[in-house]
Amino acid sequence: MAAEAGRSGDFGDIKSLLLSELQEQLRNLGEPSYRAGQIVDWLYKKRVDTLDKMTNLPRPLRSRLSEKFSLGKIDIVRVLGARDTTRKFLFRLADGNLIESVLIPATPALYGGRADRRTICVSTQVGCAYGCKFCASGLEGFSRNLSANEIVDQLIAVERATGEKIDNIVFMGMGEPLANLENVLRAIRIINAEWGLGIGARHITISTSGLAPQIRKLAEEPLQIRLAVSLHGATDEVRNRIMPINRRYNIETLLSACDYYNSHKKQRLTFEYILISDVNDSDEQARLLSRHAHRLSAKVNLIPYNSVSGLPWTRPSEKRQEKFLSILRAEGIPATLRREKGHDIDAACGQLRLQTERAELTKS
Ligand code: SAH
Ligand code: SF4
Repeated sequence: MAAEAGRSGDFGDIKSLLLSELQEQLRNLGEPSYRAGQIVDWLYKKRVDTLDKMTNLPRPLRSRLSEKFSLGKIDIVRVLGARDTTRKFLFRLADGNLIESVLIPATPALYGGRADRRTICVSTQVGCAYGCKFCASGLEGFSRNLSANEIVDQLIAVERATGEKIDNIVFMGMGEPLANLENVLRAIRIINAEWGLGIGARHITISTSGLAPQIRKLAEEPLQIRLAVSLHGATDEVRNRIMPINRRYNIETLLSACDYYNSHKKQRLTFEYILISDVNDSDEQARLLSRHAHRLSAKVNLIPYNSVSGLPWTRPSEKRQEKFLSILRAEGIPATLRREKGHDIDAACGQLRLQTERAELTKS
């Protein structure tokens, strides 16, 4: 829009740029490219919140940068949970939309974790368009994709608020990461880079409800990140009942995309499988799930369903959960049954819900 050209921040948020892009921008401004290194140092190591605080840059450069780029931040509206337990952070984005991240004190072993590590579960969209029948995030539909800087800022804001270093990141908050693949990959490059947040690719996991074409695209990415596939049903009949995406990409289409992924990656993938009473928790489903896991050499993470108010589903008894697990194990599948984290504060997976400012204000 020509009328708006020249307005501050027209080139977008500076935290959405990769180092190489920043170097190019600086060359275009007639500046030496080492300035880009200084800028990312201010952004990701010293973590200043205004361009003007980058005091080793010449003042005229700082003001030219401020004309071109914005440097946004996300504000914490509320934190739920105690210091030594799972904490849920509610953020307000620059446009007023609300999103959430969850900080989990110990990292689940399946995602490369250790008990003394901290995992953050980040959102990738405001809402979600995929409408899985069991999930809170899709209840109110989809608003918009998050930009790369809004994803990176979730980590920065949580580290700033807690003073704790995050070691592990899972893309399992609100939204479908593979439906926002470009921005998610951009954010991952920044999170992974030495000049950025420096978190190793093996400590980064993307979870998808099964967007088969995007799984193939991800397979072709050189980054050795982990992939978790939300299967939740071992037959089309069960999956169709709870996941509308299965009507677009059925199990065979999904599994063959996973085969393709495997042929490109060293890391084994994980199947996530929520156990929902009388929906997908039969012995037969467990046996078929084992077959799929064998085919993909996949690990299985069983998640007892977390109740969502307004939705009819319940979790199976512990006895049933254990039986389901034992069938997988008897078939030689590496499987775990997830222990509860954050259930009481609605911070468990699938309990992150699109919130409106008004709903928040009435609560507080
Ligand atoms: N959209 C992506 C990532 C976000 S959901 C996906 O679907 O994979 C992250 C995980 O939480 C998924 O495995 C999802 O199926 C699961 N989940 C959703 N609702 C849940 C609920 N009520 N209880 C337990 N897990 C849930
Ligand atoms: Fe969206 Fe994932 Fe929830 Fe399905 S489970 S509605 S894809 S966030």
